[in-house]
Parts: sequence; C-alpha cells; structure tokens
Amino acid sequence: MEILKSIENFTLEMIFPSQCVCCGKKGPALCNDCTKSIKLLNVQKCPCCEKSITDSGKLCSDCKQTDYPIKRLLVATSYKDPEIPKLVHLFKYRFISELQLGIGEILLKALAKHEMEIPNLIIPIPLHSFRLRWRGFNQSELLANYIGKNLIPGIELEVNNEIIKRTRYSTPQMKVKKYSERQKNILGAFQANPELENKIQGKKILLVDDICTTGSTLIECAKALQALNPRSISAIVIARQS
Ligand SMILES: [Zn+2]
Ligand SMILES: [Zn+2]
Repeated sequence: MEILKSIENFTLEMIFPSQCVCCGKKGPALCNDCTKSIKLLNVQKCPCCEKSITDSGKLCSDCKQTDYPIKRLLVATSYKDPEIPKLVHLFKYRFISELQLGIGEILLKALAKHEMEIPNLIIPIPLHSFRLRWRGFNQSELLANYIGKNLIPGIELEVNNEIIKRTRYSTPQMKVKKYSERQKNILGAFQANPELENKIQGKKILLVDDICTTGSTLIECAKALQALNPRSISAIVIARQS
C-alpha cells in the first residue's frame, strides 16, 4: 500500500509538478477556484490624491490640472486581502514564476471589468540588470506578456521591454519606509531610449507593475516615457499598499 501510494504521488508529481499555493490542490500554482475566489476591487480612486473615487481609476478633476503623468491607474485587488501579499511574495521572492498565469488572469479580469481602453503598447516596469540577474525574471514583464497575449483573443498586443531602462540601482521600494525617502530613492531611475520614439509617439501606453505604494516608481517611469510624446499613459497593478 505504501509503495502504491508513493508511486501515485510520484506519478502526480510528473503530471502536475506543482500545487496551488492557496489551497494545496495538485495542479497549477494558483488553481482556477482560488483565482476565481480573489475579489476584484469595485471602487477605484484617483491615482494622484488617492481620495476621490473616480470612474475606473481616472484622475479626478482637480488632479487633472496637475502634471501627474498617468491618466488612469487600475488597481486590480485589495492589498488587505491576505492572499494578495502572500501571492506577490511567492511570485517575487520565492521565484514561483508560474504564478504569472493566475495573477495575469486576475489582471485581465480587472481590465475587462473596468473597460480599460485597448493599449497600443504594453510596457512592464523594468528591473535593474543586477536585480534581474538575481531573480532570473522580471515579474512585471511576465504579467505584461500575459496581458499582451490574452487581452484580445487571437491578437497579440506588443509588449516592449527595451524602451525604458532602469539606469540607476536603487534600494527596493518595499525596504524604504518613509514616503519622502521613497520618492527620492527612485527619482530619475529610468531613462527612455530616444531612438525608439516612433514606438511611443502618439500611442496609448499601458504600464504594468506588481504592487504600487506611493506610486513613485510608476510616476518616474511615466515621466521618462513622456519625453517620447505618447498619446496617453495608463497603468495597472495587482494591488496598492498604503
Ligand atoms: Zn487553489
Ligand atoms: Zn485626485
């Protein structure tokens, strides 16, 4: 019996090498049931003041007058849902890259729910090359690719990870506690390649990141992109930690 059991386990491991990180069921890293059970945020706020409730994360009328570079930020889920910080941690720090499927699916559902306009180009927030080498993958890029392949059935949207580079190595934002320090930490950390201006000029851009806190990373990235004259810059994140 013992032997049979271990053969069964061995075979299951061969077919389904992983198990769901939430319920433990053999199969994908985040099973269908657990993906479905994660609640999408209904209420979206102005990404700039974080006070006014706006239609699907657009800027409120006051903040529209400022030079805030992102016109719309969609926050897919709540960071207060205990599964979310856990999923993101496993994805980023335990290197469970297969979680891109489940998390990517959640982002797709949020984009559909809030009727986000179809972008011409999707850009993941880049990692510095040191960090990329350490982690082996850029988690935002995996999510951007998933969105690019699956947002419109049968059509693959372009994802570009060449236009924006992280030129300065900065302490991970999660480790910087003070709001003002976070802004300083990331200031001028990105640069857009002017040779690729034709890819950006007049285009609707969607930035993809995992977790947004103060928004400084997205803002700095968007500012770098603005130099290449896009039509608009929107963004999506899994959750916002405030
Ligand atoms: Zn599950
Ligand atoms: Zn506002």
